[in-house]
Amino acid sequence: MTTATEATEQRTFDSLNPATGAVVGTHPRHDAAAVHRTVERAGEAARWWAGLGFEGRRRRLLDYKAVLVRELPRIAGLVREETGKPIGDATLETVLTITHLDWAARHARKVLGPRRVSPGLLGANLAATLEYLPLGVVGVIGPWNYPVFTPMGSISYALAAGNAVVFKPSELTPGVGVLLAELFRESVPEREVFQVVTGLGETGAALAADPGVGKIAFTGSTATAKRVMAACAANLTPLVAECGGKDALIVDADADVAAAADAALWGAMSNAGQTCVGVERVYVVEPVYDAFMRELTERAAAVRSGEDYGPITMPAQTEVIRRHLDDALAKGGRAVVGGADAVRPPYVDPVVLTDVPEDSSAVREETFGPTLTVRKVADAEEALERANAVSYGLGGTIFSGNPRRAMELARAMLSGMTAINSIISFAGVPALPFGGIGDSGFGRIHGADGLREFARPKAVSRQR
Ligand code: NAD
Repeated sequence: MTTATEATEQRTFDSLNPATGAVVGTHPRHDAAAVHRTVERAGEAARWWAGLGFEGRRRRLLDYKAVLVRELPRIAGLVREETGKPIGDATLETVLTITHLDWAARHARKVLGPRRVSPGLLGANLAATLEYLPLGVVGVIGPWNYPVFTPMGSISYALAAGNAVVFKPSELTPGVGVLLAELFRESVPEREVFQVVTGLGETGAALAADPGVGKIAFTGSTATAKRVMAACAANLTPLVAECGGKDALIVDADADVAAAADAALWGAMSNAGQTCVGVERVYVVEPVYDAFMRELTERAAAVRSGEDYGPITMPAQTEVIRRHLDDALAKGGRAVVGGADAVRPPYVDPVVLTDVPEDSSAVREETFGPTLTVRKVADAEEALERANAVSYGLGGTIFSGNPRRAMELARAMLSGMTAINSIISFAGVPALPFGGIGDSGFGRIHGADGLREFARPKAVSRQR
């Protein structure tokens, strides 16, 4: 048995079930030459796919949607095997994916199709039109934590915008990627519009450096995004980078503390905390702090790793979680739920920490585990200042009973997305753009912005 990282001298690698260690599948390690051949075939397919027009693509993408609905149990089953997550979570991510595919297919013409625009002062002499044309081949590089939802958030929109896709799934979840492309061929058998290349980071690097790629959609860690950006620089290939996060949840004085505790817990623990928009920090104003902590600790103590959530999918991540926990405790942090022995690879038990100094890695770096830091603050202004004091800016949450105040805080939060009185609801709303600022990346997937991300504006002005 080989793991993805051990197989450096081999031309194949295995994906493993992180809960049992069993081999789920064996996949080729595509090198730069193989990636290039795939991109060339995608280039031919892209011309054909673009030629189908919005209506032809819409029909086929809705056929693909029907196939995904039919195969939902099979897809979710494979997600569970490759990531270890409970079947309910695997099913939910697949259902959300399907709602995005449906939205992208149905809205592409309206968002991207040709329209007349006002020629302004030159109106007497000119007619002006604007449309958004496909880029050609989009390379998608994906992570393992939501191996269907996350890459498909780029793939669905890139396909609807008229591009062909070459997808490099995470080496931890290659089988899911291969299955998604296989199912696409049922609806579009004529050309290789959606292909997969498998391998480790080097395969992704080859895709980013390939001159035949019109854009890279990367989702993964900030450190890798910088390497991808450097590879893209060779050909000035544009990039959308969806990276990590360190989301904060703010609880204001007039908030529903029970609802806030539910949200904090779900945001921190679901998927074992392996969520880019997972809640990792909570700031609670002083008057409701004790009530909030009572609600939170009661709920957190009842959460069971291995039942409510699965194992840590990437073995090396347990070391990051352990390092953050040790650092927080060494600097004077207190574990009010769980403790120093919470990390039991491949599982990590729920941990709630308080009194953690703000310079600790548990407050500043992405932990990606079922751990939460909670801090008492004087007021919402202090909460906001602390929430904004990290390099990441992906999502965030405000709990407040005052709608106007909540909206002010949401606008002032340095994040691409903010939820009010609910948790990460933005991911499930297809019309809302998804993405971050700062170390969380740039560019947007989902919604009209997500469609435009995979198209180029074409301006035409015509003398009357
Ligand atoms: P990662 O950066 O280790 O890997 C992501 C992908 O990049 C994998 O397919 C990997 O093989 C590939 N890769 C590695 N080195 C490469 C290179 N030099 N060139 C090109 N590709 C290369 O990330 P991960 O561990 O798979 O995923 C977890 C991270 O993803 C977390 O930081 C999480 O927050 C982030 N994430 C972000 C979002 C979002 O939408 N913002 C969504 C999910 C996950």
